[in-house]
Amino acid sequence: MTTKEMLDYDRQHIWHPYTSVINPLPAYPVKRAEGVYIELEDGTRLVDGMSSWWCVVHGYNHPVLNEAVERQVRDMSHVMFGGLTHRPAVELAEKLLGMAPEGMNHVFYCDSGSVAVEVAMKMALQYWHAAGQDTKRYFVAPRRGYHGDTWNAMSVCDPVTGMHSIFRGTLPMQFFVPRPEPRYGEPCRAEDLEELRTCVKNNHTRIAAMILEPTVQGTGGMWFYSVDYLREVRRLCDEYGILLICDEIATGFGRTGRLWGVSHAGISPDIMCVGKAITGGYMSFAAVMTTNRVAVQVCSGEPGVFMHGPTFMGNPLACAVANASLDLIKGYDIPVMIGRIEAQLRKELQPLQGMPNVEDVRVLGAIGVVELKNPVDMAWIQAAFVREGVWVRPFGRLVYTMPPFVIQEKELRKLTKALVRVVSNLR
Ligand SMILES: *Cc1c(COP(=O)(O)O)cnc(C)c1O
Repeated sequence: MTTKEMLDYDRQHIWHPYTSVINPLPAYPVKRAEGVYIELEDGTRLVDGMSSWWCVVHGYNHPVLNEAVERQVRDMSHVMFGGLTHRPAVELAEKLLGMAPEGMNHVFYCDSGSVAVEVAMKMALQYWHAAGQDTKRYFVAPRRGYHGDTWNAMSVCDPVTGMHSIFRGTLPMQFFVPRPEPRYGEPCRAEDLEELRTCVKNNHTRIAAMILEPTVQGTGGMWFYSVDYLREVRRLCDEYGILLICDEIATGFGRTGRLWGVSHAGISPDIMCVGKAITGGYMSFAAVMTTNRVAVQVCSGEPGVFMHGPTFMGNPLACAVANASLDLIKGYDIPVMIGRIEAQLRKELQPLQGMPNVEDVRVLGAIGVVELKNPVDMAWIQAAFVREGVWVRPFGRLVYTMPPFVIQEKELRKLTKALVRVVSNLR
């Protein structure tokens, strides 16, 4: 197959994420990837500004992660988790719980971030079922959130960007409150929490849990918000008997400059989801952690077990590479490593602030966001970034970068230069 034949077949038969099959925009053919570089079939090398949707934090083709996979393949790639267990799963649990916010005491492994959110939501429902409080069956979520594409995860995504209108009548109806308005670093005023307070006060007998992305709302708007908001949410949940589910799938493992999104506020969730960077981007895998109180309660009521158990639960290959990935994370000095990226992003994206087509420039940890006044022309901007030798994939009005943690100063400069040039020359 020539490259052209491959691309033609791809165009005619394969769905890409959020892409039409009718006359789709081009997909670039990747041959290999190494460190922070993605190499196309024609030999073009692009500096990766996306970490392949937040997950490839150590860079591609990492010798330590490769070795972990290769070693595990020789022992076993998979074995069912019902009635069996293995060292990679146990070591990983020990590592995860050791790193997790205070109180996390049990781990549930699953296949992907969206499934982790489904699992977390089911856990909350079973918790209240076991407590004999079956009216607590709904969730409250801030607008502009993103929690994945499966059914219940979708129901707590922002109703507008999550396109709830398409699925009206079949999607569970949840409670929504405004997104946290005060920015990261700003205090939270009483009125910023007014609607949330009223919502939980009036509906707590029907609300099982609040779900949110701590500190950074990702795909729903790349928004960094006040840590006071998180602290206040924790307090309100405790006051009204509502569980707090923190979706750390995007924020976890250092992306925001601290190990967890909740680390900024010093709070602990009742249930938390991790995914994306957990395997360093080697394969799809996720975990849900919870407290002793929740785990024990879930298993106290009928039917006495948690009703979930995916085929690939605790997959040894995924656990092995996750163990290696977490060892690397534990070896990083996150505040220093991410602080360096943050400082450079701040300095080098600054020239975009105040440009006529730019609404806002914001940086937190290894996340740099340029919010435009108008949506981008995807065909034009994607080609423009590739011409600049970088891989950046904007959506809507958001042009952003989340480079691998291992990116060097010169490579990051190439990215920020490309961002500044492309945004300055927007059509
Ligand atoms: C990506 C993401 C998910 C979904 O994870 P998948 O692995 O894509 O299913 C859920 N929540 C957040 C915050 C995410 O960023």
